[in-house]
Amino acid sequence: MAGEPQADCLFCKIVKGEIPSTVVHETDTTLAFRDISPKAPTHVLVIPKVHYPDAASLAAAEPAVAGDVLRAAGEVAAQEGVVGSGYRLVFNTGAGAGQTVFHAHAHVLGGRGLEWPPG
Ligand code: AMP
Ligand code: ZN
Repeated sequence: MAGEPQADCLFCKIVKGEIPSTVVHETDTTLAFRDISPKAPTHVLVIPKVHYPDAASLAAAEPAVAGDVLRAAGEVAAQEGVVGSGYRLVFNTGAGAGQTVFHAHAHVLGGRGLEWPPG
């Protein structure tokens, strides 16, 4: 069924606690943890606890949870102290755009200058 945990999904395993992560924020529907390979001083991943392969399919199927991910990302940014300096939310979508984990996630990046446009 749509949204069900996938046995072979890294982030579903993190949600279930089968793989350790450094959790910084959690709600009923979302989990946020530090990226294992940070690309900025603040680099947190915010994921829905339900499994969808990318942000657009999450938003199409469960728009309220997609909203929860955005709200959680803003709360993480505030917690991390990067609201004043600015931060970036990134949803890589598709292998060609650098997506490597096919469970929807927002990158919260901040704490350094961020170039525009991104590479
Ligand atoms: P993406 O490339 O947009 O799919 O993002 C996937 C992110 O997951 C990358 O930035 C990885 O560094 C990160 N990542 C992979 N494995 C883990 C893990 N076990 N814990 C935390 N972050 C991870
Ligand atoms: Zn998953």
